[in-house]
Amino acid sequence: MGQKWDVVIIGGGLAGLVAANYLAKNDLSILVLEKGKTVGGRARTNQIYQQYFNLGPHALSKKGKAKSILEELNIHIIGKSPKLGGTLVKDNLEYTAPFTPLNLFTTNLLNLKERMEWAKVLMKLTSINTEKLAQHTFEQWVQQTTDSANVQSLLFLLGRLATYCHTPNKASAKVIVSHMKTVLSGVLYLDNGWQTIIDQLNNRAVISGVQIQTDQVVKHLDPIDHDHFKLVLSNGEELLSKYVVCTTGPHELHHMLGEQSSFSKIRPVKGATLDVALTELPNPKKLFAMGITDPLYFSVHSNYARLSVDGKSTVLHVFKYHTPDEHIDGKKVKKELEQFLEKLQPGSKDYEITSRFLPQITVNQRLPQIGDKVSSGYHTAFSLS
Ligand SMILES: Cc1cc2nc3c(=O)[nH]c(=O)nc-3n(C[C@H](O)[C@H](O)[C@H](O)COP(=O)(O)OP(=O)(O)OC[C@H]3O[C@@H](n4cnc5c(N)ncnc54)[C@H](O)[C@@H]3O)c2cc1C
Repeated sequence: MGQKWDVVIIGGGLAGLVAANYLAKNDLSILVLEKGKTVGGRARTNQIYQQYFNLGPHALSKKGKAKSILEELNIHIIGKSPKLGGTLVKDNLEYTAPFTPLNLFTTNLLNLKERMEWAKVLMKLTSINTEKLAQHTFEQWVQQTTDSANVQSLLFLLGRLATYCHTPNKASAKVIVSHMKTVLSGVLYLDNGWQTIIDQLNNRAVISGVQIQTDQVVKHLDPIDHDHFKLVLSNGEELLSKYVVCTTGPHELHHMLGEQSSFSKIRPVKGATLDVALTELPNPKKLFAMGITDPLYFSVHSNYARLSVDGKSTVLHVFKYHTPDEHIDGKKVKKELEQFLEKLQPGSKDYEITSRFLPQITVNQRLPQIGDKVSSGYHTAFSLS
């Protein structure tokens, strides 16, 4: 039997590194095991040529729990808030997004009655007690909130923007509306990408004595007595630990436990992302857009954050929100995202430096359903002791 640890953390993504930093404040021996070649998980940023690509569009809520946790750990967060506003697209037509007081009164999307209704709903949203929504799906809440089809579409759109969930008939109103409230308080696009958070968390953990090992896959996790877990790695190595914090997806944990656990039933929230770097924007005025009925997103993150070595190139993300269990035809989705980009930025291909398409990426490991608590963001950690 190999080395004994007080705590083994499985996964060196954001959740694993945050857990390591908190636990390092105690006198414990801590090991982080990460399957990838580097730490970071879904919060990593890849440098492709001179550009920094997050794994799809990443925005940190200014009033979210994740930011306050990172600040408590003395992680420096440098970035800028994108302006509210932009364009909404429906049936190939473009409308001004009614997210600011001025745009609310100038938008061609809503008639006068709908504008008043939308203003009322936005006011209600800021003061709503989300605890009272615990027994409702998001769709039920939207339908109870307004009869206007246009205002309902705007609420569904904001729900997608805030949580990436495109399943209003299943998702918990309490969780989605809580996140909508947080996102309406503003978000940050981070200079040099989310890797800056990962690097700081990683360095602080190492300095505090945490051991971090990459290229290590945990295959099995067995509780061997009341006090210990045995971890078996893919290279055959065996470790003992008093406590295990597992930050992998629930399906990976299910396989590690090697038994029928309810973890395998948890459904993820997924999407497709087209990450693009351009020398310049064909239409510099169009920086943000969403589909009203088509679940599409477009945002030029480099307009606010520095996302290239020289700070000059444009980095933007086009995204499609998937519904759970949807069959994904990668080629079709890619075309859909390219067409959305072409509509908003005609001729952008002529300026393209590089691009990356990921047809199916997990944004949130768990579709938030009725009965779920509001999590600190999109993170899931399972603590076993
Ligand atoms: C396209 C996209 C957009 C997003 N946008 C936002 C946003 O705007 N705002 C926001 O707050 N969040 C956003 N997120 C979510 C955010 O990126 C994640 O919530 C966060 O990075 C998850 O961190 P984590 O540590 O929980 O999980 P992960 O990053 O998935 O980390 C888990 C780690 O476990 C490792 N692992 C898995 N199995 C094993 C094993 N058997 N042994 C060892 N290691 C293992 C994995 O390699 C991985 O590194 C987005 C995510 C995506 C994909």
